[in-house]
Amino acid sequence: MDFTSHTSTVVTVAVRLVNALTPGHQRGRPYLPPGGSALAAAVTAALRARRPDVRQVTPGEAGEFRAVAAQLRAVFDAVAAGRTDDAARLVNEMLASTGARPRLDRHDGESWHLHFHSAEDSLVTSWAAGCATGLAVVLGSEAHERLGVCAAPRCDRAYVDTSRNASRRFCSTSCQNRVKAASFRAAHRPGRRGASGAAAAQPKKSSASA
Ligand SMILES: [Zn+2]
Repeated sequence: MDFTSHTSTVVTVAVRLVNALTPGHQRGRPYLPPGGSALAAAVTAALRARRPDVRQVTPGEAGEFRAVAAQLRAVFDAVAAGRTDDAARLVNEMLASTGARPRLDRHDGESWHLHFHSAEDSLVTSWAAGCATGLAVVLGSEAHERLGVCAAPRCDRAYVDTSRNASRRFCSTSCQNRVKAASFRAAHRPGRRGASGAAAAQPKKSSASA
C-alpha cells in the first residue's frame, strides 16, 4: 500500500512543469519553452502525465502555469545549491499565496481522497497549491535532498530521485550517458596518461547539507 501516492503525483507534476516551462538547458542544448498554443499543449501534457483525465488548459491558464513553474524552479535550484533554508522559505510563500490546505473530497465516483486545495479554486491555483504541498512534504522529510537539478554539463532540468539508495544525479539516462562518454574520452585522450576523467563526472550539485 502506498499512502503517499498523491504526494508522488504532485511532485512528479512539479518536475514536469519546471522542465517544460522554464528556459535553460536540456540534455546539452539550450532550451526555450514553447509559446502560443504549444505552451497550452505542453502544460496539459505535464498534468496528464499523472492525471490523464485533466481537461485541456487554455492559453491564459498556460501563461499562469509558466509563472508557477518559475516559482517551483527556484525551489529545485535552492535545494540543488544546498540552500535548504531558501527552499523552505520559497515553499512557505507558495503555500501562503495559493491558500494551500488539506481537504477531503469525493467526486466522479471516487472514494474520499485528500486534496491540497479547495474545490472552488481555479485549475492553476489548485495545481500550484498541490505542487507546493508536495514539495513541502519532501522538504520536511529525510528525503529533502531528493529534489535535484541535473548534474550534467549544459543541462539544468529538474528531477525527483525515487531510487532506493538516493543515487540519482541526472535528469535522464541521456545526460548520464553524455557524462559517462565525456569521462571516458577524457580518460583515453592521447597524451593524458593516467587522467581519470573524474572532473567531468563531478556533480554541479553542492554536497553541502543543512
Ligand atoms: Zn540533464
